[in-house]
Amino acid sequence: MKNQTLAIHTSFQREDAYGALGFPVYHTAAYEFPNAKAMADAFCGRTQDPDYSRLGNPSVTYFENKVKALTCAANVFAFNTGMAAITNALMAVTAAGKNVVTSNHLFGNTVALMKGTLGRFGLETRSVDLLDLERVKASVDEQTACIYLEIITNPQMEVADLHGLSEIAHEHNIPLIADTTMIPFTVFSAKDLGVDVEVVSSTKYISGGATSLGGLVIDYGRFPNVNRVIRYELISNLGAIMTPHAAYMQTIGLETLDARYRVQAQNALDLAKRLRSLPQITYVNYTGLEDNPFHEISLKQFGPTAGGMITIDLADKQACFNFINHLKLIRRATNLFDNKSLAIHPASTIFGPFSGSQRRAMDVKDTTIRLSIGLEDVDDLYEDVKQALEAE
Ligand SMILES: *Cc1c(COP(=O)(O)O)cnc(C)c1O
Repeated sequence: MKNQTLAIHTSFQREDAYGALGFPVYHTAAYEFPNAKAMADAFCGRTQDPDYSRLGNPSVTYFENKVKALTCAANVFAFNTGMAAITNALMAVTAAGKNVVTSNHLFGNTVALMKGTLGRFGLETRSVDLLDLERVKASVDEQTACIYLEIITNPQMEVADLHGLSEIAHEHNIPLIADTTMIPFTVFSAKDLGVDVEVVSSTKYISGGATSLGGLVIDYGRFPNVNRVIRYELISNLGAIMTPHAAYMQTIGLETLDARYRVQAQNALDLAKRLRSLPQITYVNYTGLEDNPFHEISLKQFGPTAGGMITIDLADKQACFNFINHLKLIRRATNLFDNKSLAIHPASTIFGPFSGSQRRAMDVKDTTIRLSIGLEDVDDLYEDVKQALEAE
């Protein structure tokens, strides 16, 4: 059977007493044992029986097992948010005195985590142009713990060569960690492109309908340390495991992920093509467009779909604010890959706390609007963009 079928039909770890087709949500902090020996065996890892939900919960395990079936990963860990997943992955491979080679084009909180929070614990962040493999090679040294990137950067829409980066990482025997939130693992294999560990904000495509927050670390097992540190140290010490209720909602979302994604990606492509004819829009950035500078590499790495996020550039910041204020259908909200289409002005919101020069260094422009394309009819989305551009 294909992965998608396996994921849908993955059975729960134990048979249900009533034969329920749905799966049980174990809203419990702790688990009772029949005797002292069974208790000791569970606590010492000699059996798989759960003992305390900060360390493991059957509903969360079920969600992880479905992701495992879809990705053929060695280990999958579900966390409370995407940021918790990123924190766990980075803390599994780094230490004081080590460095991470990454780019200036990163999700705002990931930059803040690396440079601020982990920086205070002695981690160095080296931001280089990941499109320039020679620069990357020159930046990696004995103290480099990993190369870290986002597969399509937000909002710049840059796509780096994963295979090229993985070769550099593997020459130094360090993992390539990729935030793959932008393209779901149902449509491409990060492992085949040389990625060792995927981190995903499952808040986005997977939850579907923005029902819940979540994050995943998907480990392909090339660096056993990742599993060892997360499973036996960070899960218990950081306490960031996904809640059973979120695991329930995200499992339901996961079952329809592939179907939803295909409609959203097609909507995004159709809309991107049509927006190019509107005179108020100076640039439509979407790697699915054939003349986009990253079209070819996107096609090669991720296949024919290019995700559900588009950015458009308008004349200036005032034009952007005016556009956002006049939207009637597309919602004014952050988040990505909700069923509803969303619009945001990244420079004044997500990147608002950064200084003007920091934003320039990150290529976050005042003229850019980010659109997350949902499941609506694309004619209605086009009409809404058009009327909001024309409104005074
Ligand atoms: C949203 C997002 C995150 C953070 O995820 P949360 O679930 O909000 O913590 C990380 N990386 C990318 C690319 C994202 O879009």
